Amino acid sequence: MDSIDTRTLQALDAAHHLHPFNDNAALAKKGTRILTKGEGCYVWDAEGNKLLDAFAGLWCVNVGYGRKELGEVASRQMTQLAYYNSFFGCTTEPTVHLAAKLAELTPHDLNHAFFTNSGSEANDTILRLVRHFWAVQDQPHKNIFIGRHNGYHGSTVAGASLGGMKGMHKQGGLPIPDIHHIDPPFWFGDGGEMGEEEYGLHCAKRLEDKILELGPDRVAAFIGEPIMGAIGVYIPPRNYWKEIERICRKYDVLLVADEVICGFGRTGEWFASQYYDFRPDVMTLAKGITSGYIPLGAVMFNDRVADVLATKGGELAHGYTYSGHPVCAAVALENIRILQDERIVETCKADTGPYLAEKWKALGEHPLVGEARIAGMVGALELVPRKPAREFFPDRGRVGQLCRDVALRNGLILRATNDSMLLSPPLVITRAQVDELAEKAWKSLDMTA
Ligand code: PLP
Repeated sequence: MDSIDTRTLQALDAAHHLHPFNDNAALAKKGTRILTKGEGCYVWDAEGNKLLDAFAGLWCVNVGYGRKELGEVASRQMTQLAYYNSFFGCTTEPTVHLAAKLAELTPHDLNHAFFTNSGSEANDTILRLVRHFWAVQDQPHKNIFIGRHNGYHGSTVAGASLGGMKGMHKQGGLPIPDIHHIDPPFWFGDGGEMGEEEYGLHCAKRLEDKILELGPDRVAAFIGEPIMGAIGVYIPPRNYWKEIERICRKYDVLLVADEVICGFGRTGEWFASQYYDFRPDVMTLAKGITSGYIPLGAVMFNDRVADVLATKGGELAHGYTYSGHPVCAAVALENIRILQDERIVETCKADTGPYLAEKWKALGEHPLVGEARIAGMVGALELVPRKPAREFFPDRGRVGQLCRDVALRNGLILRATNDSMLLSPPLVITRAQVDELAEKAWKSLDMTA
């Protein structure tokens, strides 16, 4: 594709395509970057630039780009049976196999899958089904969800309401009723002089305080991303989730782990609830479930929830045309096979993850970096005006955007949220590619400073 084609595409894009999470007028002026090809950890744009994708698309291309097996499986399934629904007493083979596979793969007794097309829809689904779970047990008033400020659970009305992004709430009058939020653990921003353990307990107590304020008999569930991604990769203290679990059990509040980013190996464990050793009642999944090759989301329910829904729930008045789509299910199964057969998660945990952590933490020595945090294969650099104070730039976001643009010019894709540079590479990244990533990141920090 030559540059005239690129300009034509950009003009068409500006005229006809509204981009999500973009200032579309500004983007039209700047010109969209058009991506044309991917292989392993690299993507190419229409101008022929080769970019190391340290963000795995959007936290999702876990097995890397260009895996032919995934395309072949999709093609085979499309030819054999392109579609059938799971409504009206039917389903398809790959859908059944995937539900069983997820039951085996997810921890504890998360044995029951409901399929959606995305992470947002998975979180929408839990809002309805968890409320229904309590309602059919004669507790219709136990309907409040507690989420966290700055959490991200998707863009649908319920997803955005469960999330705590102020900018999203402003558009469309959210959150919907009976959803409350507490502050998340973000040591860099509000940890003060507290040590890790003290801070973990301090943050978890916010949940207990909120439950007591609202009344335990009114609180249906707490939802959180084990590691908050979109807001800036907030990695909670080690003891946070165990304590959250204890509080949820004490007040009989269901615990929902949104593992849309963290699931399928991102932390070096298959699921972050294993990384933090806690036991969710419900888990939402998407992204890495197909490594982004095709849209798919899922909700996993434990036996307790599934039993109540099965014995008292009646007809499940919820579902999507594409719930359990056979092509998506076939791709997910093949994606999981690749992750398992190639021991990709285990390699991240034992080898490339620790290597990446070492290199990433070394970037913390740069004068522009106030904190380098990482858990497995997900991390952030907090850019700061001066060290060692943990403070933010007054015009938050400007330096982050600058650094992101500089990195792109250096052939590296990092995402910026405010002034945090976010990291989430394909899980197949090699040591040599980690070296390249670290080198390009350091150079980009130098050029930004
Ligand atoms: N939950 C989390 C933690 C996410 O990061 C996202 C997307 O980034 C979602 C839910 C929404 O998923 P989707 O964009 O597939 O609707």
